[in-house]
Amino acid sequence: MFSFDFHSPIEALNFPLFSDKRLTLHIKRDDLIHPFISGNKWRKLKYILQEAAAQQKTRLVTFGGAWSNHLLATACAGAKFGFNTTAFVRGEEVSNANLSLCKLFGMELRFVDRTAYKDKQALFHQNFGSDKQAYFIDEGGYSREGAKGCGDILDELSHAYSHIFCAAGTGTTLAGIAEALAAKKSAIQLHGVPVLTGGAFIRNRIAELSTDSVANTCVLHTDYHFGGYAKTKPELTDFIKYFCTQTGILIEPVYTGKLCYAVFDLAKDNYFANGDNILIIHTGGLVGLLGMEKSLHL
Ligand SMILES: *Cc1c(COP(=O)(O)O)cnc(C)c1O
Repeated sequence: MFSFDFHSPIEALNFPLFSDKRLTLHIKRDDLIHPFISGNKWRKLKYILQEAAAQQKTRLVTFGGAWSNHLLATACAGAKFGFNTTAFVRGEEVSNANLSLCKLFGMELRFVDRTAYKDKQALFHQNFGSDKQAYFIDEGGYSREGAKGCGDILDELSHAYSHIFCAAGTGTTLAGIAEALAAKKSAIQLHGVPVLTGGAFIRNRIAELSTDSVANTCVLHTDYHFGGYAKTKPELTDFIKYFCTQTGILIEPVYTGKLCYAVFDLAKDNYFANGDNILIIHTGGLVGLLGMEKSLHL
């Protein structure tokens, strides 16, 4: 029902670092799925919107920071598929390019302080508890429906990869892929690169959305957070400039920059075996780049 019938392409990346070690590297361009309902945010929303429609809901209510890719995706998807949208935005009232786009797509924004923001269920019940039309969507699309949509990515792979790498914020994308790999008894090794400090918690989030045994199949590389969410270091920004210049593919410092940095760093450290075939999932999120413009020191 809520389909664009769009399969994102897979491109080969040619870097001597990989070819010299007899590794092949590909990238799945989920950033090309849609300019605003980008990457994994579309995959997550697909079944969430189906569920909302099945329950005859007409308003999507969700949560995020001022630069959240999920807010923008929900705003645009709401406009495209006929839902009203409301977002609780963390922190004091601000304006930026991301929120302006959300408003253009008709999203109602309600700024809430950080303490109130912590209890999303309470916010929903206080404000929409008596509204039968309202549908709760957790921050970042964290949900079983969201994970299921991300698992569908495997149906679009024609190749037997040795490794799949994906950035992790809430772990929903990893959970979906891990679950789908387990269901197919696939030999592909899944890797996650948490973008927050203390990224080991991602394993618990994956387990919440699937099972402990599925969560244990995923390798987490927790040392590539660069100081925390949306934090950068010169090594990261230099790498992002190098990667964008070499490929014509944009990556950004919050998610995909850290992801690609990790894959390159692991290759340098001879983490992979001769002949390994590596797939990076480009989860999109390029509007967020505008919020990080200054920290790129261009
Ligand atoms: C939201 C987002 C992620 C995080 O995905 P999770 O499923 O929350 O782990 C990764 N990459 C980009 C570009 C995102 O916008």
